[in-house]
Amino acid sequence: MMRNNGKLIIVAGPSGSGKGTIENAVMERFPDIHFSVSVTTRPRRKYEIEGEHYYFISKAEFHKRIEQGELVEWQEVYSKNGHLYGTLRSYIDNALETGQHLLLDLDIKGGINVKKAYPESSVSIFIEPPSLEAVEQRLINRGTDNPDQIKIRMERMPEEMELGQQFDYQIVNSDLNEAINRFKKILEKDVYHQ
Ligand code: 5GP
Repeated sequence: MMRNNGKLIIVAGPSGSGKGTIENAVMERFPDIHFSVSVTTRPRRKYEIEGEHYYFISKAEFHKRIEQGELVEWQEVYSKNGHLYGTLRSYIDNALETGQHLLLDLDIKGGINVKKAYPESSVSIFIEPPSLEAVEQRLINRGTDNPDQIKIRMERMPEEMELGQQFDYQIVNSDLNEAINRFKKILEKDVYHQ
């Protein structure tokens, strides 16, 4: 197989869009795509592994990294109690230099910023829920947010959907298999040049 240059596959979408499920399916299908490991100040969840899911660091450490220019972008993610998340420049540059493809799961603004920083080496994909009602139902079914939190999320949706139009591609996740297939087709065209 011809060796490709490394590509950044940026994925974002409102919560309840089902982006995580799509990402998992895609990464299973393309084992040469690696997950970009970000830094975060959020506490580690029990099942998470340091350096595999995130690098878990303190707020002070996070600010030091900002000052030292180590982050391509960073955001305070409102839906995560204001925890900080940032993309490591070294992680991205190492991957690109060695021809490795990376999948970046970012919040929407972070996704736009990474695309701006690496316009030629990235493809950005926005996962859209089929409707506002579908998101509300998914959030209720998931059971991780209380009614007030769900209301706040729903109020932010129109702005998020608007920002999503800045991505290279939008995939409406009304049928999971169709959404995964569309994602694969984008990769075949823009990453694998088939
Ligand atoms: P979680 O805490 O559930 O792992 O992720 C919370 C949110 O932070 C998700 O929407 C995820 O996409 C986003 N996120 C994870 N890493 C980064 C990052 O490095 N930069 C930005 N901007 N968002 C991130």
